[in-house]
Amino acid sequence: MNNEKLNIVVFRNNLRIDDNYALFNALENKENVLCLYPLEILEGTNLGFKRCGNFRKKLIFQAITQLKESLNEKNIPFYCVKDISSSLKALFSDYSIKIFYEKEVGTQELQFEQKLENFHYESFYKQTMIEAFDIDVSKSFSNFRNKVEKALKTNKMQIQNPLEFEIQEQKETLNLKIDDEKLEVLSENLILNGGEKEAFKRVDEYLSKYIHKYFDTRSLVDGFDNSTKFSIYLSIGCISARRVYQKLKEYESKSYESKSSYWIFFELLWRDYFHLIMKQSSNKLFLKTGLMENESYDFSTNKQKLQEFFDAKTGIDIIDAGVVELKTTGWVSNRLRQLLASYFVKNLGLDFRYGAAFFQEYLLDFSCASNYGNWAYQAGVGNDKKYRVFDPVKQSKVYKGKVYIKNFLNKEETLPSFDYAKMALKVKEEIFKNKD
Ligand SMILES: Cc1cc2nc3c(=O)[nH]c(=O)nc-3n(C[C@H](O)[C@H](O)[C@H](O)COP(=O)(O)OP(=O)(O)OC[C@H]3O[C@@H](n4cnc5c(N)ncnc54)[C@H](O)[C@@H]3O)c2cc1C
Repeated sequence: MNNEKLNIVVFRNNLRIDDNYALFNALENKENVLCLYPLEILEGTNLGFKRCGNFRKKLIFQAITQLKESLNEKNIPFYCVKDISSSLKALFSDYSIKIFYEKEVGTQELQFEQKLENFHYESFYKQTMIEAFDIDVSKSFSNFRNKVEKALKTNKMQIQNPLEFEIQEQKETLNLKIDDEKLEVLSENLILNGGEKEAFKRVDEYLSKYIHKYFDTRSLVDGFDNSTKFSIYLSIGCISARRVYQKLKEYESKSYESKSSYWIFFELLWRDYFHLIMKQSSNKLFLKTGLMENESYDFSTNKQKLQEFFDAKTGIDIIDAGVVELKTTGWVSNRLRQLLASYFVKNLGLDFRYGAAFFQEYLLDFSCASNYGNWAYQAGVGNDKKYRVFDPVKQSKVYKGKVYIKNFLNKEETLPSFDYAKMALKVKEEIFKNKD
């Protein structure tokens, strides 16, 4: 080890310069800085599905390319490495290194952090809009929301202002003995491109045009601007949740506060809620029992039923169209995600973790906490005490599924040839033991 100091920022789902605590702190005392992205976090499988499918991979690669350019302009190198441990070891032999990284939630994410913690390090938990606090995992979202909103009103809690800083040019050009891996070129078409600039553009565009329309359109199954699509950027951190909140307030002050503008904040609170639940409950959301302490449901892993669902062959048009949309675009609306998860668990009686792994591979905006949190919630193993099951055919009618079905299945909507309501009742009796 040499005495020359090198601060290393390890990026994961914080692919931005703005409001980036790890980067800000690494730069603060004017040591040399090197940025790394560990490609290994995109590899591997889970229950037969890829940990990161090509839609999200492409989004991440676009965001990395942009970030790398912005940092390189300031003479700060950004390398994509295959194996973080061996790269850090090699750097450790030449420099006195200190790692800076943002903490995440999720079992694999925490396992990865252990590799960084073998060295001198500083970490920050900054994933949420509100500052992280110890949450009672047995309490519902309503309880959380009331608590947060009360605390915000009485200044017992605050949403921090995003960090404002400018990067100075790095004087020294580093002589590094590690390889910068080339990023795969992927051919997928994305509904939005990755990158910090694109994230800011989308947030400004949406809020300037639709801030007061959101509430009335958010639940429709189709239509690009019916919801914000901010999740695409929040999930890989091209923009921070605090910056989105600040922008929301800015656009409200330029116009007015409405039920609709409030509801964007309300939904962002769901995101915070699931992040804090996962942070507090460690690996529970990946278990069949979820957050439940004493009850266990005997979910099925019937291969044929699983395959029919994943192949869009359930015979319920709205469900099959949702699966096709997800697999061909990497996107599906919140309403459809709810319908898919409800049908998967409450009609087919399948183990929610297979559904979550399927979503993980395909969703452009996959986020560990939001995905597993929502799946567990739909599977009745979150902390929602109510038994909820959606009627997909009725939902398709209410939320204008007809055109959507035509788009993705290339046919007119038809009524299912079997009694799906009876199926749901059977699952309720057999698996959920007639839960209320
Ligand atoms: C089964 C299932 C799986 C899901 N998986 C994910 C996932 O992997 N990643 C993800 O970001 N969201 C997930 N969601 C939540 C939600 O569907 C998406 O956040 C939302 O559809 C993204 O679109 P939007 O940005 O246009 O959302 P908007 O409706 O415009 O909402 C604004 C923001 O609020 C947050 N938000 C909204 N609804 C939720 C919610 N139910 N839970 C958590 N945050 C929410 C998101 O950050 C979103 O960008 C899932 C929901 C379900 C039912």
